[in-house]
Amino acid sequence: MIVLGIETSCDETAAAVVRRYDDTSGDERSGQGEILSNVVLSQIEDHAAYGGVVPEIAARAHVEALDGIIKTAMAEAGMRFDQLDAVAATSGPGLIGGVLIGLMSAKAIAAAHDLPLIAVNHLEGHALTARLTNNAPFPHLILLVSGGHSQILLVKGVGDYERWGTTIDDALGEAFDKTAKLLGLPYPGGPEVEKAALNGDSKRFALPRSMKGRDGYDFSFSGLKSAVRREAEKIAPLSDQDIADLCASFQAAICDILADRIDKALVTFSERFPEKKEPQLVVAGGVASNKAIRATLDTVLAKRGAKLVAPPIKLCTDNGVMIAWAGAERFALGMSDPLDAPARPRWPLDKDAQAKIGAGR
Ligand code: ATP
Ligand code: MG
Ligand code: FE
Repeated sequence: MIVLGIETSCDETAAAVVRRYDDTSGDERSGQGEILSNVVLSQIEDHAAYGGVVPEIAARAHVEALDGIIKTAMAEAGMRFDQLDAVAATSGPGLIGGVLIGLMSAKAIAAAHDLPLIAVNHLEGHALTARLTNNAPFPHLILLVSGGHSQILLVKGVGDYERWGTTIDDALGEAFDKTAKLLGLPYPGGPEVEKAALNGDSKRFALPRSMKGRDGYDFSFSGLKSAVRREAEKIAPLSDQDIADLCASFQAAICDILADRIDKALVTFSERFPEKKEPQLVVAGGVASNKAIRATLDTVLAKRGAKLVAPPIKLCTDNGVMIAWAGAERFALGMSDPLDAPARPRWPLDKDAQAKIGAGR
């Protein structure tokens, strides 16, 4: 089956074509996939001057770019629309203007070429990517850490998730970006903080480890960011070394918090699924490209006999492949959506949280 996927929920305009080998093909590749094209246009430069994503600028940029991006993705895959089996688009959660633009385009293609539409939850796209890249079997854990989300999820099957933990304030990428901004580093801040931290002393500042040791699997990052601000104000004006030390201390605190939460989730996972001899933790989201965080996760997982599954970085950040693939996985199970499928600014993955905001499928 061949699926076009469209992603416009934040600041990347993206489209991709993916093939999924049918479960019934008898082929050893059945259930596996292949990327036929992957086109991503980042809007980072449009937003950099504002220190964050500006929704209206993002929506306008999606309008301008999307048709060309879809055409390029189809051409690079060597496909015509009538050769597709389905078209998938992010229908939430995300910035509503962008989501509407991608979803409307997908609906137009579906209507014009009589194709099924798959309305994909952006988080499900992140969650299922590791099945395309690493054949990750169900059930597994996922740590999703991006500019808009910080969650620990149990992935039981397609459309079947339990959210174990989430941030009670800032998302982790947001904490990196805000911390960078207050230290005078450019946007997006994550990679800048990581770079500065390489030359810093992670023990110079004693920063809080919020939620560490607490029940449950939730995160909190805004106190940490405020603590960095207080320390910075005490020693201002900041030298390059001060900035490096603050970044290193901030990143060390983040690693400590993640290690604590993930270790706890692994223990629970093994209690619930004792037959899984080597539990897998999938990481996704832009923050997952941070090398200090990856090294920390490696250590925690090794201690518990678990394995870190990290899709290539360009598939961890927002892209069309993840949406095409999630669409293909859903369509293979007979799921598709009507042409009036809504765009949803908020759309939690797990059913309990969906029920709370009345947003079930
Ligand atoms: P979402 O996917 O939740 O809608 P998003 O599109 O902002 O949000 P991504 O594109 O996946 O998320 O990731 C961007 C975030 O990742 C930014 O906050 C950025 O600072 C952060 N980030 C990128 N690289 C690194 C890094 N090396 N270290 C820490 N953070 C990073
Ligand atoms: Mg992004
Ligand atoms: Fe994302």
